[in-house]
Amino acid sequence: MLAPTRIRIVVRGAVQGVGFRPFVYRLATELGLTGWVSNSTQGVIIEADGQESLLQEFLLRVNRDHPPHASIHGLEYCFLDNAGFNSFEIRHSLTKGAKRTLVLPDIATCPDCLREILDPSNRRYLYPFSNCTNCGPRFTIVESLPYDRANTTMRHFTMCARCQAEYENPLDRRFHAQPNACPDCGPHLALWNAQGESIAGHRESVSPTIDALKDGRIVAVKGLGGFHLLVDAANEEAVVRLRRLKHREEKPLALMAPSMEYVRDMCVVSALEERALLAPEAPIVILTRSARPGVAPSVAPNNPYLGVMLPYTPLHHILLREMHSPIVATSGNRSDEPIAIDAHDALRQLNGIADLFLVHDRPIKRHADDSIVRIILGREQVLRRARGYAPAPIHVPHQIPVTLAVGGHLKNTVALAIDDNICVSQHIGDLETKEAFDAFRGVIDDFQHLYETSPQFIVTDLHPEYASTGYADRLAETRAVPVERIQHHWAHLVSCMTENRIDGPALGAVWDGTGYGLDGTIWGGEFLLAGARGFERVAHFRTFTLPGGEAAIKKVKTAAAGLLYEVFGAQSFSEAESPLVRQMLEKEIRCPRTSSVGRLFDAVASLIGIRDEVSFEGQAAMELEFRAAKGVEESYDYRIQDGAPLIVDWEPMIREILDDRPRVESAVISAKFHNTLAAIVVDIARRVNEARVVLTGGCFQNRYLTERIVRDLNAAGFSVYWHQRVPPNDGGLALGQVMAARGSVGAVYKHRNAMRCL
Ligand code: ZN
Ligand code: ZN
Ligand code: FE
Repeated sequence: MLAPTRIRIVVRGAVQGVGFRPFVYRLATELGLTGWVSNSTQGVIIEADGQESLLQEFLLRVNRDHPPHASIHGLEYCFLDNAGFNSFEIRHSLTKGAKRTLVLPDIATCPDCLREILDPSNRRYLYPFSNCTNCGPRFTIVESLPYDRANTTMRHFTMCARCQAEYENPLDRRFHAQPNACPDCGPHLALWNAQGESIAGHRESVSPTIDALKDGRIVAVKGLGGFHLLVDAANEEAVVRLRRLKHREEKPLALMAPSMEYVRDMCVVSALEERALLAPEAPIVILTRSARPGVAPSVAPNNPYLGVMLPYTPLHHILLREMHSPIVATSGNRSDEPIAIDAHDALRQLNGIADLFLVHDRPIKRHADDSIVRIILGREQVLRRARGYAPAPIHVPHQIPVTLAVGGHLKNTVALAIDDNICVSQHIGDLETKEAFDAFRGVIDDFQHLYETSPQFIVTDLHPEYASTGYADRLAETRAVPVERIQHHWAHLVSCMTENRIDGPALGAVWDGTGYGLDGTIWGGEFLLAGARGFERVAHFRTFTLPGGEAAIKKVKTAAAGLLYEVFGAQSFSEAESPLVRQMLEKEIRCPRTSSVGRLFDAVASLIGIRDEVSFEGQAAMELEFRAAKGVEESYDYRIQDGAPLIVDWEPMIREILDDRPRVESAVISAKFHNTLAAIVVDIARRVNEARVVLTGGCFQNRYLTERIVRDLNAAGFSVYWHQRVPPNDGGLALGQVMAARGSVGAVYKHRNAMRCL
């Protein structure tokens, strides 16, 4: 990947009037980059052209070597097409567009505050609610705008004279720090037993908490955006118990490590990964585990990666320093429910799970789970956008009327477009339970209240049975505003195109588990061509039946049965086949057809003996990915049937896999399967003959697949785009829904045109 590219960096924080722009200018000039830097209402925006490796160095140095008086509260970057700048310049401030106050994300504890809480002579020594203008809670405490103390949950606390003096002194680091507090006037800890009886208070809550953790017990801790459940990451028994009680069988658990040194002991950490770990957003970063990570096997079974974050509040710093070892820090909820934010709710919700509750009296206004990020192909990719990022907007280059998009069904997020900003909500989750649906409604109300606006348009998925769709319909009716339905995979594609700042034409490989197609079948292995008049489904995977429909997501063996039935008919039934599945297939009862690549992954995983059932969606596919042997270049055969759309026929591949199965290692079969999918994308891209290829949908959480396809498409001369700031999974849908409905280029993305294209 030697072609020059462009990096766009948005830096929020105390970065104006501190020599930041001249610093960026000097650095860019030193590195021989072209582009510009400018102040805007969002912060400092930088765009630079150059070789990708130089741009990475530039990013790391902007982050590390900035002027001492600057403080970065948030930094997001993405790589875009090269812009062909001639020189580097400091541009006039961008003041176009209405200046609306945006809600700020939470910021991890800054080095100054950390120093204070570790200094025995400081009045905030070991005070877990220290913060300043450069760090601390924002999104999780603000009740309404403007962001003043009276409009935050800190209004319950009256500042003492010393805090008030800091707050009023323009020369103080806490000048107008809204959540400013100290041990004399601010919130405090309390430690409760499982019955909610207080057993320790204030600073005295810490050591019994640590003792309990060391003892292998489960402690629920109220943090910034909700409760965590903590256990000692080295204690296998404790981790197993947490899993059993939380009904979280195998999904990987996140870790919090006391410091970078501990992270390096457990994982291999690149410079970009280190930047992400230490960033003010402090996300969970997915890292390759080292040979002997020293964590309990049940933290992330059968998984070559570990999700690790660093402490991001003073409370976490205090706990982790006492603990002297990594802890499991997973969301404080029962499997599919939203994260608990209120101590009394937590007591009920986590009853029977947590042995102790470390709580405090600073109310959390809204939930924000930990964000998840990884570095793929030298770029950051957000897999779950929540704490630290939400609700920082995705900026688009034109004004959009106020539009609410309600997202999909799984990994739901919603989005509110205001002016030229699209504020994507924090991760809400799968809308499977009443609690999750309530949280979804809550976020929609909350966003409208916070931004004091009401949508002129509502956008939703095409699926008639999504809870989100039903809600959108009712809301639109109440408000007497139009509701627009956007096809699922089209929304994925537009989402990825939006954040990569490309308009049509582009070919999208949109692969995921499930999405309602324009023809009423389940799509999920799509090639959509985004053109000037909407999109055309230029190719898709051959469909097969999914006995039992959605239930096949958990029982991946039935996906395999459907696939085999498609190829061999009744001959495919083995002794082991359940008579029920057999009957469903033969009589075509509850047997929707699907082109889903996600389900193809499941079926292949089951065929080669990886697993027949899963405990979370995508588990079989994930394990199939992890199984893939490195260094295998072969692939399987497939056919492309001519026509409009082209049909990708996987039958030759499945037959070869069955031939391979008795004698070839599953690791090699997996690699060949992945390689075949990569070959298919290149093949279709050649046939469609569109220079730009966009990779989106949940299947592109698969690192092996994504890296392979990008490599092969680049080698074949195509430009390739993938997700960076919003997730490739359904968490990115809402952004695409807004833009598909309200896009810039005339009628480019209009849904009605899209329908006509088919
Ligand atoms: Zn601070
Ligand atoms: Zn005070
Ligand atoms: Fe999807």
